[in-house]
Amino acid sequence: MTKVLIIGEHRQGELKANAGELVAAARVLGDTIRAAVLGPGASQAAAAFGAYGVDTVRVLDTDVAYSSDGFAAALAPVIAECEVNYIVLMQSFFGRDLGARLAARLGTPFINDVTALAVEDGQVVATKPLYAGKVIGKLAFTGKGPKVITLRPKNFTPAAADQAATVETKPLELPAELKCQVTHVEPKATGMIDVKEADIIVSGGRGVGGPDGFEPLRDFAQAIGAALGASRAAVDAGWIAHSHQVGQTGKVVNPQLYIACGISGAIQHLAGMQTSKVIVAINNNPDAPIFKLADYGIVDDLFQVVPELKKLMVEALAG
Ligand SMILES: Cc1cc2nc3c(=O)[nH]c(=O)nc-3n(C[C@H](O)[C@H](O)[C@H](O)COP(=O)(O)OP(=O)(O)OC[C@H]3O[C@@H](n4cnc5c(N)ncnc54)[C@H](O)[C@@H]3O)c2cc1C
Repeated sequence: MTKVLIIGEHRQGELKANAGELVAAARVLGDTIRAAVLGPGASQAAAAFGAYGVDTVRVLDTDVAYSSDGFAAALAPVIAECEVNYIVLMQSFFGRDLGARLAARLGTPFINDVTALAVEDGQVVATKPLYAGKVIGKLAFTGKGPKVITLRPKNFTPAAADQAATVETKPLELPAELKCQVTHVEPKATGMIDVKEADIIVSGGRGVGGPDGFEPLRDFAQAIGAALGASRAAVDAGWIAHSHQVGQTGKVVNPQLYIACGISGAIQHLAGMQTSKVIVAINNNPDAPIFKLADYGIVDDLFQVVPELKKLMVEALAG
């Protein structure tokens, strides 16, 4: 029997929708799925796992904010006690940090940024992009002990949250002494959806010309329920915060629709968005490399196109 532990993410007790992706991946790997949720508000988030048919959830409900050594130490006993074969997290800041810490602590292998999982000849094979997406690698685990996997968001069709299982929660404990402790967290209220969670992204590059050039894009994004993305050139110029950056040194996204405005299409930008389902590029240079990848290209001034596109999309979404 293969046992899988998924580690859910939540925001102040609200389980994130990517829980469905964790469950879907866990079902490929094994037959017994347990979950864990940690941090302030975790008990409330744990209950939501019932809808995915997960019956046992380990909970660390603590006022102590996230620290990788603390949370890994809290999880270690349950991983040993349940003889877990796989531990699955999302490829988020939280998942990457905690996943790496768990693998190091357990001395077991870690495959990050996984886009597909399969069992071939009885062996789990993980697919992941390498060299900024130029190569697709297929990796298999060797060795004993629980293997750690992080999933690239929006690559697994989420399991349906349609079951009525009652969740049995069991507490986890933090070690008495932590090597480091976060004493204060101040969330930045942007009022916008995170690019990693968005189905639609409106993204701006150097072509927007300055911080004010992002305003029509922000307005467009808000009108259609999209997130606001950016190229590194715009971020490095200080026009927009790094949390919006898409690409090799920013966030890797996989939305249904990516609208690139005034972005040339450098390889490092493409590494973060080339798997988007539909790509629309707006650029006044017909030779911009982004047009080679785009499904739809508009050669024009973005400041003329964006308001028109907004009007059309708002009408289409309303109808
Ligand atoms: C190690 C490394 C990591 C990197 N990581 C990233 C990363 O994570 N993300 C990232 O984005 N980049 C990254 N870069 C930088 C990358 O190489 C490019 O420099 C960057 O993506 C360019 O951003 P841009 O397309 O906005 O700017 P540009 O290349 O300057 O393109 C601007 C585009 O806007 C168009 N334009 C101008 N005015 C208008 C207008 N009015 N209407 C319509 N179009 C207009 C122009 O024709 C041009 O195509 C990285 C580079 C390195 C070396």
